[in-house]
Amino acid sequence: MHVFADYHTHTIHSHGRGTVAENVAAAAKLGLEAIAISDHGPNHLFHYGIKNLQVLEVIRRELASACAAHPGVRGLVAIEANIISVKGDLDLPPEHRGLVDLVLANIHSMVLPHSLKDAAAIWGFHYGKRVWPSFGRRSVVVNTEATVKALERNKIDILTHPGLRFAIDYRVVVQACAHYGTAFEINTSKAYLRPEIIELAAEEGAAFVISSDAHVPQRVGDFQLGLELAKQVGLTAEEILNARDS
Ligand SMILES: [Zn+2]
Ligand SMILES: [Zn+2]
Repeated sequence: MHVFADYHTHTIHSHGRGTVAENVAAAAKLGLEAIAISDHGPNHLFHYGIKNLQVLEVIRRELASACAAHPGVRGLVAIEANIISVKGDLDLPPEHRGLVDLVLANIHSMVLPHSLKDAAAIWGFHYGKRVWPSFGRRSVVVNTEATVKALERNKIDILTHPGLRFAIDYRVVVQACAHYGTAFEINTSKAYLRPEIIELAAEEGAAFVISSDAHVPQRVGDFQLGLELAKQVGLTAEEILNARDS
């Protein structure tokens, strides 16, 4: 089995270190067929996200010229949007969906929330559980609701690093992924996903993608950890949207 596309990479337009051209060149060198530039959404604070949504147009132009130099690679404009409310709002409003080819999303830290109430629910319980353990359970309930609502209300192609920092009820989330046609990401930048979770997602019928979440061009196309997990669990290439048998 081999992975032919990396749908989750960052550049200097958010807090990655390479340029769009450098990520594309890295993809071309590895013989990847496609790469998505998926910088963080604009509500990410401290320059972790794109400055504003117009940056997506800049990325599209840079991607076109980079791919002209590497015609074997298809470039996709994406965003790793932030879930900014319990009701599942993203920092890419539906009317701007046309700016991107792919939407990736999840809850992140250091994000400007939709409202103070949302801040208290999502980030308050998440950070508060360190001091008040009872917040832990409430945090799972809130994060799960926000994620499921986001999947319901937006066309999200990939749920990135599910449950990495913000705890969720995996069963409920994988069922929602299967229902709304959102791929469950096996993210290779952090070894946190237990094989049982991947098994559960597969049982519930969710599709997968394996992505690098590269923040430097050298990590573009680094799928090793994901391929190992897929093998361990016995996933087939048909279950992984960016893989095929080789
Ligand atoms: Zn992320
Ligand atoms: Zn990312």
